[in-house]
Amino acid sequence: MALGNNFLPNHLELYDRASTFLSDGIPVNVVYIDNQKASVREPQKGLIGARIFQEQKNPTQKLIVILADGIRWDYLDDPDVKLKGFPRLANNGVKAEYLIPIYPSNSYPNWYSILTGLYAENHGFVENVMYDSERKELFLMSPHPNASHEHWWNEAEPIWITAEKRGVRSAVYWWDGCQVEIKGKTPTVCEPYFPYWFWTNVNQDTKNKLIHVLNDFQEDKYRLSLMYYEAVDAMGHTYGPKSKQCKQSVQDIDNIVNTLLDEISSRKLKDEVNIIIISDHGMTSSKSPKVKAINVSTVLDPNDIVKMLNKGAATYIRQRDKLKL
Ligand SMILES: [Zn+2]
Repeated sequence: MALGNNFLPNHLELYDRASTFLSDGIPVNVVYIDNQKASVREPQKGLIGARIFQEQKNPTQKLIVILADGIRWDYLDDPDVKLKGFPRLANNGVKAEYLIPIYPSNSYPNWYSILTGLYAENHGFVENVMYDSERKELFLMSPHPNASHEHWWNEAEPIWITAEKRGVRSAVYWWDGCQVEIKGKTPTVCEPYFPYWFWTNVNQDTKNKLIHVLNDFQEDKYRLSLMYYEAVDAMGHTYGPKSKQCKQSVQDIDNIVNTLLDEISSRKLKDEVNIIIISDHGMTSSKSPKVKAINVSTVLDPNDIVKMLNKGAATYIRQRDKLKL
């Protein structure tokens, strides 16, 4: 993977620490926690995955990356939520104070930044819903079939492709994009994204899959696994970030992490298996007094708008050509 000026920055020091530990064959567990408070971009530098696989000297090292969508920076400090897994992970490794999402702080732009190290303007996912005026095609989130069209993904290279190109087999579970052939490759294993709302037993299935990953690690089927977990984001959007449903989902992912750590411990894999848990963005209640709604029809004549996509902090407006804007 080429390193250029457009790489994300955020925790280069942390990344360096992770890769250093891995180089020495010592396990490191990294917890990333999203932070909405921060809004300042820093100069950009490196990317963890590339460094891990580039620098590690011990090929027995394995890595699990769990993307827990929508965990806000303060969710893990909520006194209503009794955590075991996250603190256990942090106490045995390192924990970032916060993570600065890229703008716009929505899922697809941040997922592809996590996977590629690039900002949205460089990796191409500028929003969750996009319109390509040359192809006259909408990008709509998975499971819509347009989400699997290669041209949306081919502007950059996710870490699972980089790993495969370097001979490190990867297995990706429910993280959108793994079903797409990018730069001519796919991960060794891909179970495509499955929508949370159609999933009856997401927590048990996630636990089972992580145990399955450990089995596969022990059979040397692959060394990198990435897994997506949607519940916290789904509950936050539906019931609000302070809702009991959202808190329960944080409790649930914590429980999954705790089970994973138990399994790693009982299998004596602590010196081989590394874990990174990362969020992509936070969220705030739309009822917050800080949220100011803009009625677009008071700013623009609706007759001049051909297309309007997305809602929230950023929106996409395509105006009639006659305006020549
Ligand atoms: Zn998200």
